[in-house]
Amino acid sequence: MRVDYCMTDRLSVVTESWTRRRALRLGGAVLVPVAAGCGPFGQAAGAPGAPSSDPSGVSTTRAAPPAAPAPPTTVPPTPTPAPTPVPEPREYAIESGWYFAVPGYAVRDEPGGPRFWTELQRQGGVQALGLPTARSFNAPASAGLPEGSRVQRFQQGWLVGTQAGVRRGDGVAPEPPPDALAREDRPEMAFIGRVDVSPRDARQGTTVLIRVWSTAAQSATVTLEGRDQQLVKDGEAFVGLFGIHRNLSQLGARPLRFTLVDGAGRRVTRNDAADTFRVVNPEYPTEDLIVDPKTMTLLDPVKVNQEEAFVSGIMGKFTPERYWKGPFAEPMFSPAGPVPLSSEFGTKRSINGVSTGWAHEGTDYEVDTGDPILACADGKVAYIGELGTRGKVVIIDHGWSVMTGYFHMFQQQVQEGQMVKKGQQIGLVGSTGFVTGPHLHVEVRVRNVTVEPLEWFQRAPFSRPDLASL
Ligand SMILES: [Zn+2]
Repeated sequence: MRVDYCMTDRLSVVTESWTRRRALRLGGAVLVPVAAGCGPFGQAAGAPGAPSSDPSGVSTTRAAPPAAPAPPTTVPPTPTPAPTPVPEPREYAIESGWYFAVPGYAVRDEPGGPRFWTELQRQGGVQALGLPTARSFNAPASAGLPEGSRVQRFQQGWLVGTQAGVRRGDGVAPEPPPDALAREDRPEMAFIGRVDVSPRDARQGTTVLIRVWSTAAQSATVTLEGRDQQLVKDGEAFVGLFGIHRNLSQLGARPLRFTLVDGAGRRVTRNDAADTFRVVNPEYPTEDLIVDPKTMTLLDPVKVNQEEAFVSGIMGKFTPERYWKGPFAEPMFSPAGPVPLSSEFGTKRSINGVSTGWAHEGTDYEVDTGDPILACADGKVAYIGELGTRGKVVIIDHGWSVMTGYFHMFQQQVQEGQMVKKGQQIGLVGSTGFVTGPHLHVEVRVRNVTVEPLEWFQRAPFSRPDLASL
C-alpha cells in the first residue's frame, strides 16, 4: 500500500512527509526519519521502494513519543454545540402560521410603529409577534375560537416575554375579510429577528456559520474583527461563512455587530452581547522535525510564495451565488468504507527546534495513481493548471466563498468554467508537483482561509450538521 503524501502546505514544503516516518524520496535524495514504525503507516521498512537506510543523513525525530497515529482520533472533534439557551426576555423564533388572541387581548398593528408590534405588549402579553401577512380581524364563528377572539397571520415571528393571551392556531387559518389583507402604504422596515452562530466555540481551523433572519432587509453585513463582511441572502435569512485561521487567529471572543438596510435605505443595527463566538485552540499536534538544511534549499521560498499568491487569487474570489446545496461528499470513494488518510489538516511543525507556524492545509488521502477523484459538491471549475509544488490542480468554486482544491493529479478531466456535479469524476490521482508519491491532497477554503475539510465532508468525528443543512 502506498503511503505517500504531498508537500503543498503553505510554506511547509518538506515537512509533510516526516510524519510518515518512512523513506522519503525527494529529488533523488532518500530521507529516512529516525523514528521508525508507526501504526497503520508503519510500512516503511521493507516496503517496496522504501529503503530502510538513511543515506542522505537527513533524519527526523519527534518531540513527543509516537502517539497513536490514527488521524481521526489525534485531533479532538469539534463538539456539536448544544442549542444555546435563550434567556428571557431575549427574542426567539416562533413558527409561521396564524395566531389568535383570546378576549381581553388584542392583536393588531401599531399604526405608527413597526408592523410587528402588537397591542399585546401593553397588556402584559406578547411583546412582538413577527411580521404579519394580514391585519388582525375578528375570528369568524366558524373558526371555533372563543367568542371575541382576534386572529392574525404571521409569516415569521419572534416573541419577547411570555405568550400569555395569544395562542397558535391549528389547522387552516380562518379566512380573513378582504380589508384585513390590504397592505399598508408605508414600506416595511427591516427587522433582525433571530441570529444563529455556530459553533459558539470555534476551533482554529474551523468554519463558522452565521445566519440572521430578517424580512424587508435588502442587504446585511456583519462586523467581525473590525471588518464589515457582506452576508448573502438565502430565503428569509442572510448567511455568512467564515474560516478561522488554523494557527494565526487569536484566541478569545469575537463580538458580532449586524447592520441591515431596508429598501428605503434605513439602517437597523444590532449589537447584542449574546451575538458572539469564541475562538478556541484545537491543540493540533506539533511535530519537531530535524531536517538537513540542504534539503530546505530544494524549495525556493520566493517561488512557493508566488504560487500561494497565485492560488489565493483564485481561491479568494467571492461568488455571491451558491452552486451547491446540502452536504459535501469526500473526494475519494471506496465501497469498503472511509478511504484512509495519510495526513490530517492542521498538524503543526517546527523545524530543527524552531517554530515555523507551518501547518498542513488540507487532508491527504492514501490512494493510488489512477484512482478517480470526485467533486465534493456542485460547483464551477475555477482553475485547471499545473503548478510547481501543487502539481496538476483542479479548483472548484462552490459559491459563497467556498472553494475546494484537488492537487497532485495525474490527469484533470474537466475544463475551466465547466459546471460540475457532486460526485462527478474530475480527474485521476497522481504524484505531480512536490510530492513523495501518489496521493490526493484536498483542501477547502472559506474566504480564502483553509479550514478542516472533514467538517465539510461530514466525516466522523468531524461532522457538522449545520453545514450539511445549507
Ligand atoms: Zn497534503
